[in-house]
Amino acid sequence: MSRGRSGSRRLAPRADVALLAGYHSPQVDVAVRLNTNEAPELPPEAFVRDLQEAVGAIEMNRYPDREARALREAIAAQHGVGPEHVYCANGSNEVLQSLLLAYGGPGRSVAVFEPTYALHSHIARVTGTGVIEGERDEEMLIDERELARVLTLGGRAGEENPVVTFVCSPNNPTGRAEPRDSVERVLAAAPGLVVVDEAYAQFAPWSATELLADHPHLVVVRTFSKTWSLAALRLGYAIADPEVVDALWRVTLPYHLDSVKQAAGVLALRHRDAVAERTARLVEERGRLSAALRSLGMDVYPSDANFVLFRTTGHDARGVWRSLLARSVLVRDVSSWPRLEGCLRVTVGNRMENDSFLVALRSALG
Ligand SMILES: *Cc1c(COP(=O)(O)O)cnc(C)c1O
Repeated sequence: MSRGRSGSRRLAPRADVALLAGYHSPQVDVAVRLNTNEAPELPPEAFVRDLQEAVGAIEMNRYPDREARALREAIAAQHGVGPEHVYCANGSNEVLQSLLLAYGGPGRSVAVFEPTYALHSHIARVTGTGVIEGERDEEMLIDERELARVLTLGGRAGEENPVVTFVCSPNNPTGRAEPRDSVERVLAAAPGLVVVDEAYAQFAPWSATELLADHPHLVVVRTFSKTWSLAALRLGYAIADPEVVDALWRVTLPYHLDSVKQAAGVLALRHRDAVAERTARLVEERGRLSAALRSLGMDVYPSDANFVLFRTTGHDARGVWRSLLARSVLVRDVSSWPRLEGCLRVTVGNRMENDSFLVALRSALG
């Protein structure tokens, strides 16, 4: 690194960063894209019209509202809290990054229960935070004994550890929502913040937002990327105690949310009915897709989200993934993840996409 084009300059990143692998979900051109849990539909037309008008009215020469007040008020109103409980960022991944910039760092650790959303441990490592890995039980949920074991390990790494305990509910990539009593157990036992990532909240039977009032160390994270059909917008938020929100502001770059995004977020919230209809359609499709996968002999995990995890029993998962890709269908290959040997994750698309996937799978299985 220190030779060649750069002469004698040192271009090596921090040693622990040099060891990190980036986040890689392949973006390739295919006819049927079912690998990143996006919504299959465009956002409602009325929203797009509203947004076009709003964009025309933005004074582009001016910096955006640094505190994103209108957006935070609109989100807060939806959750029945004050705007001081709401923090917004460029996607929920950036919310998670802010959380770990503020609460993580050297000497500090987070707890995760694998298999789970890879960005939780990835962002921890990027911020120099230790990762304590717990394991989910047979049902891919967090059981009491494993929780105790993980928290004890955390305590050995320093009495405040883990500073953040991550709960992904519904869990990506396995699909089920964590039951309320399980999250309550985590809240009772964790020494630091409990961050519940609810990227798929609209599909879940309950939400941890119900527990916010009684638990100032609870942070619930949401995104517009999935159910809202707005992955391109990059907007996510946290609902938390004002003290936590205040800490998040301290690590946030000035004017981090552009004016277009702020306006779009406010307008999107006016089209909640459309989101509910879309969720209902996807749940119906999910049922159809799961049943079809079972009839093809796949081992299907139950899902409270817009994706389905299945094991390609009797067939090599990587091979199946490749044959699907050859048929222009892209799903997520998670077969190299611990505990997910032989598994693929497919996003629930629209009826046509799901049919194309099933046709391709049938021929991939020979
Ligand atoms: C997709 C997903 C996100 C979304 O991240 P954004 O940055 O908001 O697009 C966050 N958490 C989980 C568990 C996800 O699956």
